[in-house]
Amino acid sequence: MEKKLFKAESKRLLEMMINSIYSQREIFLRELISNASDAIDKIYYKALTDDSLSFDQGNYFIKIEADKENRTIHMLDTGIGMTKEELETNLGIIAKSGSLAFKNENELKDEHEIIGQFGVGFYSAFMVADEVTVISKALGSDVAYKWKSSGADGYTIEPYEKENVGTEIILKIKENTEEDQYDEYLEEYRLQSIIKKYSDFIRYPIKMDVTERKLKEGSEDEYEEYTEEKIINSMIPIWKKNKSELTDKDYENFYTEKHYGFDKPLAHIHTSVDGAISYHAILYIPEKTPFDYYSKEYEKGLELYSNGVLIMSKCSDLLPDYFSFVKGMVDSQDLSLNISREILQHDRQLKRIANNINKKIKSELQNMLKNDREKYITFYESFGRQLKYGVYSDYGANKETLQDLLMFYSSKEKKLVTLEEYISRMPEEQKYIYYASGESNERIEKLPQTELVSEKGYELLYFTDEIDEFAIKMLMTYKEKEFKSVSSSDLGIDTKEDEQEAEVVEKENKELFEFMTNTLSDKVKVVRPSKRLRSHPVCFSSDGEVTIEMEKVLNSMPD
Ligand code: ADP
Ligand code: MG
Repeated sequence: MEKKLFKAESKRLLEMMINSIYSQREIFLRELISNASDAIDKIYYKALTDDSLSFDQGNYFIKIEADKENRTIHMLDTGIGMTKEELETNLGIIAKSGSLAFKNENELKDEHEIIGQFGVGFYSAFMVADEVTVISKALGSDVAYKWKSSGADGYTIEPYEKENVGTEIILKIKENTEEDQYDEYLEEYRLQSIIKKYSDFIRYPIKMDVTERKLKEGSEDEYEEYTEEKIINSMIPIWKKNKSELTDKDYENFYTEKHYGFDKPLAHIHTSVDGAISYHAILYIPEKTPFDYYSKEYEKGLELYSNGVLIMSKCSDLLPDYFSFVKGMVDSQDLSLNISREILQHDRQLKRIANNINKKIKSELQNMLKNDREKYITFYESFGRQLKYGVYSDYGANKETLQDLLMFYSSKEKKLVTLEEYISRMPEEQKYIYYASGESNERIEKLPQTELVSEKGYELLYFTDEIDEFAIKMLMTYKEKEFKSVSSSDLGIDTKEDEQEAEVVEKENKELFEFMTNTLSDKVKVVRPSKRLRSHPVCFSSDGEVTIEMEKVLNSMPD
């Protein structure tokens, strides 16, 4: 009974995942090819670091064959293969949910958690196949295994005969239905074009037996067909190609292929440096905030390759925290393959690459801000908070780098503006950069404290993010102008006469204010006449360094 319930659940899950993650079915091939390429990378890396293994480039390839009659696609790779345990844990998507069923329900409810847990690539095969068979022999193993599944119903696994190390995958392609066509995936030309489109840069040959036509011997108009094994991909990694040969679409494809994100990147940076240290890098500014971005689970980092071999998939030393949203890869021939995490941290070469990359990202963002404001705002809405954290953290060490990238909502412009823009509009007599904190722009607009500043015709920056005020406190000044909260007791606006007048009022009404202060003694520190109110009779303000809003944040923080 229980088992049945769960089956329904996982089937729904499978459909939900497939439909929500992939917009096009054809990418199943990209996913399987990238797994095969990863598997060859792994064996290549092993061979390079282990003298007892040899790696002969010629022996490593991916081969794809389609069989129309039996409706199968057959894929073979000469990668590292999988043991029985690995088949179970890596591909046992449904098997995993089998154990999930016994786990607490919460995990099932968290969609993201599940996606993270399953790994999404291999799963995509079920978009086009109603049955998937994986035959694999792991490096160093004598036995091979056959894993077979028709999706949600689980899988079988049994010992199997296979001579060489590597993996074979057989997809039983679905039958056409009225709405959905699957026949195309059995067509040679269609498979070729999918490979070209998504997997052209894969570094190992992707082979297919291609049917060609040639004139029959001795004939002038009669043709005969023959098959020939061909390498379909160009095998040049995109980062080693010339920028001029590549289109935006190529970069977008690479972004998707690499699973850097499900969104479309806002911008890419492709740089090749030759000199004291040589490297290629492709970096992306994503459009959307990853779901776990502002959580502890998020791991920053770039892929690190040593002369084409992936040595680390998340090298965090390449990115400062404030640019942790950047995705991409770096390939350098100057790095040692045997590099460990500890060594990497002290690696001077790596530090230099990181420095260069940091500058590149900054200037890319500055360019975007200057030349494509709309795009920058999209970026800023996704990751602006991270930049503000960056200003605040490390005792303000990065404020110089980041201050020109900051934006705040302006009372005058009714949109996000930079500090530079604010300063440029300041009347000469205005001493400070004024800001007001609150939950929302609407709330801030109604704050009595803003009246005087607005009446003066001064622009106000609205701080609606908790981090805003903290970041500004760290910044202290921008272009020598101090920041001033509208809630602070001295706004620097009053004239001498104003001050004298206030003093008179205070003196004349001394008793009244004392009475009010005493009456409210458990709620406020002091009640004073204010020079800044216009239409409102009263307002709260704080005396010290922190505004009331900031106090609220501090009070809500766990000790
Ligand atoms: P991901 O590639 O993101 O890890 P996948 O669902 O694509 O997720 O694959 C899951 C895992 O299965 C891989 O990480 C890998 O360990 C294993 N795997 C898949 N295909 C192969 C293959 N052809 N050879 C060896 N291992 C493979
Ligand atoms: Mg994969």
